[in-house]
Amino acid sequence: MSRCTHLDQVRVVELPETITGCEECLKSGDRWVHLRMCVSCGKVGCCDSSPNMHASRHAGEDGHAIARSAEPDETWSWCYVDKVGVGVVPR
Ligand SMILES: [Zn+2]
Ligand SMILES: [Zn+2]
Ligand SMILES: [Zn+2]
Repeated sequence: MSRCTHLDQVRVVELPETITGCEECLKSGDRWVHLRMCVSCGKVGCCDSSPNMHASRHAGEDGHAIARSAEPDETWSWCYVDKVGVGVVPR
């Protein structure tokens, strides 16, 4: 099992007060299943069960490896590069 080497990228761990949805899906009118938030820049994207997998795509395109769950009551986070769970969320 590998360890995440991207913890120095973490900038934003708290969810915004209101999340309207996946930013990219809202623009294109697509649907999503679950939401993830990039903890480097705060961008909200959709999970890998969603058709467009925007959170995963954002991680690859922008080099922001770690995203946390943006679902209510879920506080886990995940590194898309190392493919491991990461404990970056204070709560
Ligand atoms: Zn990592
Ligand atoms: Zn999306
Ligand atoms: Zn980002």
